[in-house]
Amino acid sequence: MSKFPGNPKKIVVIGSSNTDMVIRAPAIPRPGETVLGGEFFMAPGGKGANQAVAAARAGGDVHFIARIGDDIFGRQSLDGFIRDGIHVDRLVQDRAAPSGVALIIVGPDGENSIAVASGANARLSIEDIGQAKPVITAADIVLMQLESPLEAVREAAGAAASAGAPVILNPAPARALGDDILRHITYLTPNETEAEILTGITLLKKSDLARAADALLAKGVRSVLITLGAKGVYVATAEKKEVVPAFKVIPVDTTAAGDAFNGALAVALAEGKSLFEAARFANAAAALATTKMGAQPSLAIRTEIEKLLA
Ligand code: ADP
Repeated sequence: MSKFPGNPKKIVVIGSSNTDMVIRAPAIPRPGETVLGGEFFMAPGGKGANQAVAAARAGGDVHFIARIGDDIFGRQSLDGFIRDGIHVDRLVQDRAAPSGVALIIVGPDGENSIAVASGANARLSIEDIGQAKPVITAADIVLMQLESPLEAVREAAGAAASAGAPVILNPAPARALGDDILRHITYLTPNETEAEILTGITLLKKSDLARAADALLAKGVRSVLITLGAKGVYVATAEKKEVVPAFKVIPVDTTAAGDAFNGALAVALAEGKSLFEAARFANAAAALATTKMGAQPSLAIRTEIEKLLA
């Protein structure tokens, strides 16, 4: 149950859950090389789980639909979701595959190198979506990413759309998407790289952003929000296109900034804020996430977001 008073909006997040094992190293090792002198920490991550936690902390009543393994990592993630008041009754504990794990090496300049073993995340199925249909169709908004099998994403987008629930798709990690998915998407939230991969348009100047957004709007997406890192987010509809600037902070780790953005955006839109107001709320949540290390540990609660907005 949501930890916030009042009548929090129902947010359904469908996606991945991983455990991030991070080493901050003096250098990123090349093949065959061993680098000593690093510092290790472990934290729950995965785009789906991060966005579910972000939405719960931003004030949503969140259901998370995912697969984790029946192992220590899965149980630790699950405990975290419960502590954040997330509904986990549609979270499948899979006995046939381990929980997802990401091995991350962060170099001295903050650049990173990541390998992900998807494990149970790769087994999220059309049947899982079918089982969760009552939850999906009752949602105020549905939020997904692309760390899950595409057929599950397509099925969920179709189910949400036919029930009239708006769908946010954060198309990360980047891959090409067919019109069969895009036409069900109300809000598409690529970063610049993802927007380039989706449209084939290289984003060098502001007019390129407009061209990329128009190409996506032409495929049936209702609103396009291209996140621009420290510059904020380019928000585009058929009627209006505008950059909503980022908040000025001193970033220490930008991991999960995009996830914070998407989780908070879902809550703001479900609460009926205008698209541009919602983008500002999401920018604030995302800026806060860059000021702390790690994925889920860095996600802000609503009072912190409101403080930065004020
Ligand atoms: P991703 O992390 O998914 O690649 P971005 O880098 O575009 O996506 O960041 C997502 C959002 O996080 C941005 O739209 C912005 O609101 C916020 N953000 C990212 N980096 C910074 C920063 N250095 N300062 C303030 N906000 C930031």
